[in-house]
Amino acid sequence: MPGPWVVKYGGAALTDPERVVQEIRRKLDDHRRLVVVVSAREGITNLLEEAIGRPPSSRRRAEIATAIARAHPGLSEAGQRHLTRLRSLLAETSRAMRPDGPQADRLRSQGERIAAHWLAGRLAEASVPAVAVEADHLGLITDNAYGASCIVFDRSREPVRRGLGRLLARGRVPVVTGYFGRSLEGRVATLGRGGSDYAAAGLGALLGSPVVELVKRHVSVLSADPREVADARPIHALSYEEAEELAQFGAKVLHPLTIEPARACGVVLRVRSLERPEVVTTIGPGIARRRNRAITSLRSLSFLRLRVPGGRQRPGVVAEISEKLARAGVNLVQLFTSSALLCLVVPPEQAGRARQALRPVAVGPAGILEGPRRVSLVTVIGDGVIDDLARIPPSVLRGAEGLSATPRALSLAVPARRTGAVVRSLHRALVAAERT
Ligand code: ASP
Ligand code: MG
Repeated sequence: MPGPWVVKYGGAALTDPERVVQEIRRKLDDHRRLVVVVSAREGITNLLEEAIGRPPSSRRRAEIATAIARAHPGLSEAGQRHLTRLRSLLAETSRAMRPDGPQADRLRSQGERIAAHWLAGRLAEASVPAVAVEADHLGLITDNAYGASCIVFDRSREPVRRGLGRLLARGRVPVVTGYFGRSLEGRVATLGRGGSDYAAAGLGALLGSPVVELVKRHVSVLSADPREVADARPIHALSYEEAEELAQFGAKVLHPLTIEPARACGVVLRVRSLERPEVVTTIGPGIARRRNRAITSLRSLSFLRLRVPGGRQRPGVVAEISEKLARAGVNLVQLFTSSALLCLVVPPEQAGRARQALRPVAVGPAGILEGPRRVSLVTVIGDGVIDDLARIPPSVLRGAEGLSATPRALSLAVPARRTGAVVRSLHRALVAAERT
């Protein structure tokens, strides 16, 4: 038997619980076996982050707890217990100088726990046999990278299948918390902001689901950020590869790791809008003869330019540099090279460390280490996009610090202040000019 459908509701979608309940009932009437996944309600994770970033005063603590309680009217008893737990975690946070990774993740996870109990309660009122399931108890296992952990699929498969399989066999509808699991060392570990998409895709992969739906309230996958480009248009279908590039290169609509498990297990992802059911993006195996172009940007990155004696041709030089950066905890976002120069794009908070790590390799009269300069990485994504190189307007290329091209992504580092203009101009040339 194929696995159940997984349907994930984002925080903003939960703002309309009646509609969510209606949808779930309708799907059950169609005899679907369903696993529901939830994010925290909109704004809740931000409140928890605020408490983690700066220990709150007792007044602020009370305000945060009250705001969270108000967002979940009619919460079940089990849900109430999580609110109590939340209050004590907030108090602990204020006593500790700064919570460590697992403590912070424990607090972060309360938003999803409360949401799952709350939605399960709303469903039960509508006679849906729902039951809240907390992913750490279920046995969704992650690595120990608190705040940005990855699911460990081999360890999760058996407990997830057994736990959810048992509930489904009894005709129940599991409402599973997104965003976190249990680390290999047995603590709560979150998957990074927006991680409920990844959790849902991961559960679908583990359960052998044919489809995982990611339901957003009104957001959909567009050809550009609509705040930047007024005529951004919806994209109806993406290959896994395109979607992966899109998520990795800064499209906020999907968590960057969401595609990986779906692709590995052939799960079709449907990103859809709760308010406008006709707005759907299907992510699955590539479809020939379809032209998609989307523009994304990663803003405020740091750009370093490096020349090492002997140039890039010297055997092992790229490995040496990557190793030095990795040891300094620097995450290389992008690398552009010519035969003499290496241009590195790194997160701004890591630029100082990167400089320090690279100083020893840029020695001698031939050595150069310049930067950091503020850049944005603007990327055009779409199968076959390398064919569009000649259509990039000269004004976009002028002053660019680097360009990389693969058949699926064209990526430009441009001075940060030009980001908006570059995005709009690329959209005009490569998306709007096209009649599809
Ligand atoms: N609640 C978490 C966040 O806001 C996870 C999610 O929404 O997917 O980042
Ligand atoms: Mg969210």
